[in-house]
Amino acid sequence: MSSARTSVLPARLIRPEIQALDAYHVPPARGMLKLDAMENPYPLPQPLRDEIARAVADAEINRYPDAGAQQLKAAIRKVVDLPDGMDILLGNGSDEIIQLLALAVAKPGAVLMSVEPSFVMYRMIAIFAGMRYVGVPLREDFSLDPEAMLEAIRREQPALVFLAYPNNPTGNLFDAATVHRIIAAAPGLVVVDEAYYAFASHSFMGQLAQYENLLVMRTFSKLGMAGLRLGFLAGAAAWLSQLEKLRLPYNVGVLPQVVATRLLAHHGVLLAQATRIRQDRAALLQALTSLPGVQAYPSEANFILFRIARATALFEGLKRRGVLIKNLDGGHPALLDCLRVTVGTAEENERFIAALQESLRDE
Ligand code: PMP
Repeated sequence: MSSARTSVLPARLIRPEIQALDAYHVPPARGMLKLDAMENPYPLPQPLRDEIARAVADAEINRYPDAGAQQLKAAIRKVVDLPDGMDILLGNGSDEIIQLLALAVAKPGAVLMSVEPSFVMYRMIAIFAGMRYVGVPLREDFSLDPEAMLEAIRREQPALVFLAYPNNPTGNLFDAATVHRIIAAAPGLVVVDEAYYAFASHSFMGQLAQYENLLVMRTFSKLGMAGLRLGFLAGAAAWLSQLEKLRLPYNVGVLPQVVATRLLAHHGVLLAQATRIRQDRAALLQALTSLPGVQAYPSEANFILFRIARATALFEGLKRRGVLIKNLDGGHPALLDCLRVTVGTAEENERFIAALQESLRDE
């Protein structure tokens, strides 16, 4: 096959909306202070690492994993306040669960709705699944606009609504009463995405039985297991039994199952780290706010969004100093001059602030 032919074929075969997408960009971070991806910065205590090493050594990696992940599910049930009668479905990260939900409801013309700015994968996955994506703008302070949202729901009749709670990249929790109104008004499924639940003051898990069309999604990524890729969806069996048909049978491997089961048996260790992160978030917010020209947004997650003039130049200045955060400037117009920093250890946060001050002096 000639090279000319090979280069023409993808353009002919691949759906145009996929060709128009940019791949989700993960910047190289080797050797950097990594504060761009909402990871937990703390290593595990040595005895727990040893326990995991032993469990991994005994794991039967020559076998396919338990397709039902029974032990892991039991471990999750022990640490999550799942209302009576509710089930869980596991995903290879919660990203995979978003995709599974979209695939399940993607009838021709079906709409996936979220707010803007929010987690970019909602839009991307809507496109993967051939759905129409509708993003309803948040207000300038990143709060939900109830009238705009309810009007969009009436107009678009979305099959699927995602609300990140707290929202990424803005960090705020939406008004709970407004979320209730949205669930009540939506003709389709509403998924409250609680990726950052460990750092937030409120959850919708307890409301699952109240609404037929509510599902709550969580991930363990931010709690210290980003490398394991494990998320879950909680809700009524009537939904989950349908979604299970779309879940690829071995989506959670032997090693993530073994390691996460062990880790969840020591849930207290991870929760203590999350508590520490919440405390350090307050100090980081204060440090950011006290810098000249910085507008930092209060956060219920393990990151802080802030606005500052010449954000992209400062982002580059930080990078030159070995500090990687997330540059949101130049993306969504509401995020003009916005940067997002993950809360690290107290020492990392100080290094970040010092590097930011130095970068500010350069400008
Ligand atoms: N939802 C939200 C709101 C997120 O911010 C993220 C991660 N950035 C995810 C879902 C996906 O997390 P994971 O695939 O690691 O479970």
